[in-house]
Amino acid sequence: MQRHGKLAIDGGEPVRKVPLPYGRHEVVEADVCAVANVLRSDWLTCGPAVEEFEADFGASVGALYAVSFSSGTAALHAAAHVAGLGPGDEAITSPLTFCATANALLYQGAVPVFADVREDTLVIDPQCVEQRLSPRTRAIVPVDYAGHPADIDALRDIADNHDLLIIEDAAHAVGALYRDRPVGALADMTTFSLHPVKHVAAGEGGVVTTRDSELAKALRRFRNHGIETSPRERARQGRWDYDMSDLGFNYRLSDISCALARSQLQRLGANLLRRQEIADTYHRAFRDLPLLRLPTVDESVVCAWHLYPVRLETEQLTGTRDEILNALRSEGILASVHYLPVYWHSYYRGRFGDRKGLAPVAEAAWSRLISLPIFHGMSREDVCDVIAAVRKVLAHFC
Ligand SMILES: *Cc1c(COP(=O)(O)O)cnc(C)c1O
Repeated sequence: MQRHGKLAIDGGEPVRKVPLPYGRHEVVEADVCAVANVLRSDWLTCGPAVEEFEADFGASVGALYAVSFSSGTAALHAAAHVAGLGPGDEAITSPLTFCATANALLYQGAVPVFADVREDTLVIDPQCVEQRLSPRTRAIVPVDYAGHPADIDALRDIADNHDLLIIEDAAHAVGALYRDRPVGALADMTTFSLHPVKHVAAGEGGVVTTRDSELAKALRRFRNHGIETSPRERARQGRWDYDMSDLGFNYRLSDISCALARSQLQRLGANLLRRQEIADTYHRAFRDLPLLRLPTVDESVVCAWHLYPVRLETEQLTGTRDEILNALRSEGILASVHYLPVYWHSYYRGRFGDRKGLAPVAEAAWSRLISLPIFHGMSREDVCDVIAAVRKVLAHFC
């Protein structure tokens, strides 16, 4: 304790020398072998590893169809496209998300309409969604913030009453459960990310799941320039000709990436258990700190713990969120913040104006939030370092 007395940011000794990121991937020898096997095969892209990964991913989240994409952002764009969103349309989404969620709507010429989040779980508030409905609303795009599933049943009621589609951004929530049902099998379309900071890493990559065969077909077409058949289908049929019936993109995920993601998927269960264990340890370790508000998990869900977001009771602390965050980072704990409300990014301000007060709960959360490190490769020492650093820093700002 003596050694840790003075804050590192004030010239004291840091809790740890090697900085700990807030999230990171873990690649094991089996992953390397899976990728090497593809490199020795006939197909680097559009080959069998793509369908194998999609089959395994769909099965793991209880979805009939899983379509892979070159990124989670491409997956969101594709979902917005096949949902039929276009100029003049609105889609209601959460402001407390990575900007890609709303950007995907803009790609289609649709307008993202931001509804505030629930004060406890920070997922989109169905009552606020209702207040944002207009004759132009076509879709609801909830975000499973930090791995906590959105209130899909309540959103489903709204969607059914107003003939809307639900596109769930589950980039944080692979493996999460909502009322005993897996995220991926709940919404009309669910999108996932395979970025290394997420649970299943492919370098870059994304997935859309759906139970609708027509949507699945349209998703496959969109990722392949709008062409009906894939090169492998044509090879199987001995054909060379093809028709482009829709304006699509090249959003395909290579066999190399799919092999890595499929190999990683086999450890998803262990990954989720480890994250739950870390979250439980944090809960116990911080329970006695009244100035730290710990994340709330609704009784009806199992959280996938992509993030462990705490909120500071800033009124009662002698430092701002940024001062406390910077002090933590100086201790070697590379905590971060998720997220600036999307509409406060300069692009959104420039295009839609300064909209202070649009989502007061999300705005208040932003000024208090800190995401502590949580990922499956964290050692016991790593977890102890986070706890020691948080306690040390908070003690200085009490
Ligand atoms: C990571 C993320 C995305 C984008 O995924 P990429 O694979 O990085 O394109 C979208 N939405 C949310 C909430 C994310 O966290």
